[in-house]
Amino acid sequence: MIKDLEIINVLLVEDNLPDAFLLKRNVKKLTTIEVNVTHVESCQEAVLCLKQINFDVILLDLSLPDSHNLETVRYIYKNASDIPIVVLTGLNDEEIAIASLREGAQDYLVKGEINSNMIIRAIRYAIERKQKLAEIKILNQKLSNSNQELENYAYLVSHDLKQPLQTIISSINLVLYKEENLKETSIKLLNLILDASFDMNELIEDLLSYSRIDKNKENSVMVDCRKIVDKVLSNLDSQIQESNAIINIDFDDYESLMVLYNPTNLSQLFQNLISNAMRYVSKNQSPIININVEKQKDNWLFSIQDNGIGIKEENQQRIFNMFERIESCAKEYSGTGIGLAMCQKIVENHGGDIWVKSEISVGSTFYFTIPVPIV
Ligand code: ADP
Repeated sequence: MIKDLEIINVLLVEDNLPDAFLLKRNVKKLTTIEVNVTHVESCQEAVLCLKQINFDVILLDLSLPDSHNLETVRYIYKNASDIPIVVLTGLNDEEIAIASLREGAQDYLVKGEINSNMIIRAIRYAIERKQKLAEIKILNQKLSNSNQELENYAYLVSHDLKQPLQTIISSINLVLYKEENLKETSIKLLNLILDASFDMNELIEDLLSYSRIDKNKENSVMVDCRKIVDKVLSNLDSQIQESNAIINIDFDDYESLMVLYNPTNLSQLFQNLISNAMRYVSKNQSPIININVEKQKDNWLFSIQDNGIGIKEENQQRIFNMFERIESCAKEYSGTGIGLAMCQKIVENHGGDIWVKSEISVGSTFYFTIPVPIV
């Protein structure tokens, strides 16, 4: 916290000597805090100084002999990303000042309007903000480490559960089909255990797929969405036949649908959404599914529309959470509640978004975006 600092070390980077003089004079007027100012006149000198002295804050003019405007902020930020930067701008440079904040500066002061109170306020705020940002960065890192640990744990647990479960399933099958004179109640109970074991097997398979989703962007390659969708439809062929589903694909407006994606993940994404669209229909209805794509400025926007049971508005966000199923249909439709969480993880890992629009008894449309690859 700033009140713990006895002296604040300021690096003033300013080539205009009268401006530098004014600033230093304003700083000297401060009585509540002691400020040490080191003054340099160029970016190169600033970087040399930063290597030798621990500064608490940098006051940075943007037009220097060896650098101009945003280049100056970028250069200094690159060399001192953990020190707060307060940019000094001219009267009409508000736009550049704001753009500087996007490049890593914490605040700006307009030259000609500066007084000592403003300087100390800017310095205090800049230091506080930078400290808070550093704390958030550490917390984010901790959170992402513990998420990774959880995912590794889920993988290990589910992997190790598979073997004993297979033994249970084969043993029950042996008893059911080889044992003679089993009582009817025993047969019923054994079948119940068998069903529960199959459900558990499905859950383990889904958990394993979830924890295997690859975060490594380097494993992305250029893939053709048309080919992926064709492959997915052939994987789902028996489900399509059984449910009498009609699937319309409209990709005709675009010659090429190449995206930078992990091909396995892209198949999982389409497969989960199309399979859900076929499953969540009323029992007396055949699914009609429309798969479309639209090119936006920076994204491909895919949509998968069904004529199914629909999802109430209050459930439309939570179904993307792990293990979330809608109670009212959980009894009628089997599932694990992992599919959409997996879709969300895949889409976000590849820089996209996923959401749903839906109306009860009319149907749902799931949308997701994929960034248009830069060629
Ligand atoms: P699962 O299908 O295994 O339950 P998902 O994560 O794929 O898991 O889906 C979560 C829940 O979202 C489902 O249980 C279902 O209630 C709802 N849901 C998903 N897709 C649809 C859909 N196309 N139409 C209606 N409800 C859906």
